[in-house]
Amino acid sequence: MISFDEIFKDAENSVTGIAAAPGIVIGKAYKYIKEELEISEQKITNIKLALSDLEEAIARSKKELTKILNLARNIIGEKRAIIFEAQMMILDDPILLGTIKRRIEYEKMIPEFIVNDEITQYQKLMLKAHESYMSERAHDIEDIKNRIIRNLQNKRLKSKIPEDVIIVSETLSPSDTILFSKNKTIGFVTDHGGLTSHAAIISRSLNIPAVVGTHNSTLNINEGDELIIDGFHGCILVNPTKKQINFFSKKIVHLHELQNSLKELKNKKAETTDGKSIELLANVDVTGELDIAKASGAQGIGLYRSEQIIAELGDIATEEEQNTIYNKLSSSMYPQYVTIRALDIGGDKFNFSEISEANPFLGLRGIRLLLKNEGLFKSQIRSVLRASKNKNVKFMLPMVSSLSEVRKSKNLIEECKNELKTNKEKFDNNLKIGIMVEVPSTALMTKEFADEVDFLSIGTNDLIQYLVAVDRGNDFVSDLYREFHPAVIRTLKLIIDGAKISGKELSLCGEMAAETLAIPLLIGLGLESLSLSPSTIPYAKRIIRFVSYEKAKSLAEECLTYRSTKEIINRIEKFFEDNSIKRTRNLI
Ligand code: PEP
Ligand code: MG
Repeated sequence: MISFDEIFKDAENSVTGIAAAPGIVIGKAYKYIKEELEISEQKITNIKLALSDLEEAIARSKKELTKILNLARNIIGEKRAIIFEAQMMILDDPILLGTIKRRIEYEKMIPEFIVNDEITQYQKLMLKAHESYMSERAHDIEDIKNRIIRNLQNKRLKSKIPEDVIIVSETLSPSDTILFSKNKTIGFVTDHGGLTSHAAIISRSLNIPAVVGTHNSTLNINEGDELIIDGFHGCILVNPTKKQINFFSKKIVHLHELQNSLKELKNKKAETTDGKSIELLANVDVTGELDIAKASGAQGIGLYRSEQIIAELGDIATEEEQNTIYNKLSSSMYPQYVTIRALDIGGDKFNFSEISEANPFLGLRGIRLLLKNEGLFKSQIRSVLRASKNKNVKFMLPMVSSLSEVRKSKNLIEECKNELKTNKEKFDNNLKIGIMVEVPSTALMTKEFADEVDFLSIGTNDLIQYLVAVDRGNDFVSDLYREFHPAVIRTLKLIIDGAKISGKELSLCGEMAAETLAIPLLIGLGLESLSLSPSTIPYAKRIIRFVSYEKAKSLAEECLTYRSTKEIINRIEKFFEDNSIKRTRNLI
């Protein structure tokens, strides 16, 4: 059988990047480019033709918007879809349209120039109001303005994304990823972004193969090109040859067989060969993933990223909206635990604050932002408490870097409990409060933090970025983002020992747990609980069932003495070889 290397060796049609989400897919490329529209100051000679062009562009825009509105109602709900209704109203506004037509007749300029000028004036007036509501509306108007202009210039509309395509884009925001996935997107390719960028995490959770950080795929791939994405190796083949298609078609069949055999593991224990049980929990970003989590055999939710509700709704959810979602999580997982993490806004995730930060990852993010916005934080705390009636909910604080943040948060939780008591609302008075250990200061003081909380969870995605000073989403330095860096391994040991002394529950919910190579090391270091993307749970379980705990402990002890990432990786690879354990990518 031909090997992967042979297929890729000398392949002139290959593009490589970071393997961000496993899976292999063959499909057509759809380029998602937020293009700049150029508008020239051209005069017209045929007014009648210009007016009919305008009418036609408005009619086409309405047709497109109607489709988007219907889609939006399904995806983000009636309430959030209202912004598209507002856009529809603009297209029907007789005063605006009358003014545009009169100006075309009078000034004899091309319609796109007048449309741009007239609507921009409206926007400026709105922005002058200095109210956030008005400036948001000004953005809505930008969207409709661009839509009319694009239609006047007969340009392709990028909001019309066909189904079953592979999105090729410079970057993807978390909300782009969610919206595209709802559109039956089958794969993602981006120029920028690293393994732990949120777009990568979401594609992993939703089981959509992705290759990120390719630098130049938007240059090398044309719209409609046939692509093969190999999300295991981080490779893309553009307009593949027959030989390449045959090779990967066989791989896809093999992959399905493997996935079916992994399904059989669902009801088997995650236990080492010498009987050590490891708890496997799921990281959930959107409620749609709950079914995948249950099907994967997860023993609970170790991380629910509540900020993703914003991506789904397009706005901060109200207390009631949050409560509905948290109730759903709690009841559908009962009696298993659901760990809801407080909104981790800021950094690269949903920058809602009006301030602009030079270093958002070191700025107002997670617990810092929540403590500065008590109203927002308390409404989330109340909605979590109200969903805790079944006593299977835990609440976790992100980006904690000092004990005072924990104490202040606990005081607010007490305040919320008292408010609910006054209103005679039911909740779990012993709701477990935990923290993410993802900032080096917290890692160094794990024991002291553990004394003040009920549980801890290691967030390796951020911990690594802060420990080795490498932006987790920046592919220019992604080679320096090393989960097997000796300092990372030693810090993990420090955290695990700190938590053990205080006897508090400890899990690890960073993406490191989804790296099969890391599993024996993490177990050997003493972790007894891991939380990972639901689709990767069976792969982790498969490895655990091949590993001896005693041997994993010796492996970890040895790795703690090494001075370079390379030595550690070589040693772990040797461990896999010696114990005849195959990694996922070797299995396919
Ligand atoms: C982490 O930092 O490891 C983590 C799990 O949280 P997030 O990826 O949401 O920042
Ligand atoms: Mg984090």
